[in-house]
Amino acid sequence: MNLIIGSHVSYKKDTQLLGSVKEALSYKANAFMFYTGAPQNTNRYEINDALTMEAYQLMKENNIDLNNVIVHAPYIVNLANSKNFDFSVDFLIQERERCELLGIRKMVLHPGSATEGNRSIAINNIIKGLNLILDIEGDTIICLETMAGKGNEIGKTFEELKQIIDGVNNKDKIGVCLDTCHISDAGYDISDFDKVLEEFDKTIGLNYLMCIHVNDSKNPISSHKDRHENIGYGYLGFDNLINIIYNKKLESIPKILETPYITKTDDDKVREYPPYLFEIDMIRNKKLNKNLIEDIRNYYK
Ligand code: FE
Ligand code: FE
Ligand code: ZN
Repeated sequence: MNLIIGSHVSYKKDTQLLGSVKEALSYKANAFMFYTGAPQNTNRYEINDALTMEAYQLMKENNIDLNNVIVHAPYIVNLANSKNFDFSVDFLIQERERCELLGIRKMVLHPGSATEGNRSIAINNIIKGLNLILDIEGDTIICLETMAGKGNEIGKTFEELKQIIDGVNNKDKIGVCLDTCHISDAGYDISDFDKVLEEFDKTIGLNYLMCIHVNDSKNPISSHKDRHENIGYGYLGFDNLINIIYNKKLESIPKILETPYITKTDDDKVREYPPYLFEIDMIRNKKLNKNLIEDIRNYYK
């Protein structure tokens, strides 16, 4: 089976998409995802087309398809909230324009949080916002992420996502990103993944599924915590995650790791190192590396 696998990578002002591709290649990935700037703020830099062209060339040489490159919208925008609504919409319009400039067709978005209490008003705000964004011409699809249901998060059930999609005018420009940690935290039993996928298909439709975030969870099912764990080291477990990653129905969908960095203390300095090279290797071998943490600490010296 053709495996499309990658991870979250950085995107820096000076190297932009080219730097992101190089980082993905350092993990032996053939897909990747990034924020176009810091996820916790909305400061963004102008896109350097020369760097984008160089990135395309490197992607071509390494068989990375643009369809498997994803932008994650910053998590501070909240379309559900009536305060700052115009700001969130304007920012996401600009973010989608940046995706267009980079040639990226999928932008993952956390639907929003009902911080003002009423969930149905929140959902209506999200729909209104999405229509303002998606009625503008463009190729980039917004992929709503399945959420853990932390606090007042919208999108913790397939039904809620379906409700939002139903309200969107431009159905060709909306999709879903399924996060394995989040759906387990939300109460879906991923140990019977065929059943989960069947429910997804019946409720939303598999044709809407465009990205998968592959994460283990630090917490048991229905915990609503949203704390990611390294592959095979949490409550979902290695075999269940492998079963999802290698599901035939999901073959053409990019799988993106968002697992936590590994900390290492050298001379009283705590540093953090990416786990992705080693996690991708485990996934390709379909074999849990019981020395994952130590191997990563030894590799990055
Ligand atoms: Fe996310
Ligand atoms: Fe995610
Ligand atoms: Zn998460």
